[in-house]
Amino acid sequence: MGKSESIVLFGPPGAGKGTQSGLISQITGKPQVSTGDMLREAVASQTEVGVKANDYMEKGLLVPDKIIIDLIRMRLLREDAKSGLLFDGFPRTLAQAVELDGLTNVTMVLSLVVPDEDIVNRITGRRTDPHTGEIYHVVHRPAPDPIKPRLVHRSDDTEDTVRNRLKSFHDQTSPLAEYYSERGVLVPIDGSGSMEDVSKLVKQSLINNFRG
Ligand code: AMP
Repeated sequence: MGKSESIVLFGPPGAGKGTQSGLISQITGKPQVSTGDMLREAVASQTEVGVKANDYMEKGLLVPDKIIIDLIRMRLLREDAKSGLLFDGFPRTLAQAVELDGLTNVTMVLSLVVPDEDIVNRITGRRTDPHTGEIYHVVHRPAPDPIKPRLVHRSDDTEDTVRNRLKSFHDQTSPLAEYYSERGVLVPIDGSGSMEDVSKLVKQSLINNFRG
């Protein structure tokens, strides 16, 4: 049997990967896999992985490759991964990308491009609904009043941590854009507009580039 075909959603923290992933998953039929969400679940349930990962995450540093690769290998064994996955926030290092190439064919890398100046503002105002996973912003996308009391502010969504996360992105993750560009699978999208504007661009790029 041939390898499955997967999509990577790429971009700095706060670029809108989590916000756009539902739409992309819906259009392509590929289940979304966010290593950040998997790690947060592991931290909340205090598994061995969670205990190891927590320090790195709180400091805005990347969790070691071995931990991430083990998580992904396990995830790819599940039945719903047979026809490929939509990866959100993975890979983040060259070692992770090389590993992923051995496990699935990466046929498209949607890269949400957002300037650093916008990131800090977006992330510090970000709030998540733990019931639905929906992502809001205190100014740009306020949640409806009834659900406001249950919104969560991620503990790593502070200004100091965001600066470290951006540094990790520029030092370790952004070189992957070139890696995928050389293979002809990188699709850059202007991620600086409103959620609706970016969704339109995402849809258009899927029409032009996705062969499902
Ligand atoms: P995210 O929700 O994607 O912003 O991820 C939150 C944090 O989890 C990051 O700041 C990292 O500490 C860690 N993390 C998530 N995905 C990865 C990955 N692929 N490689 C290394 N660390 C990761």
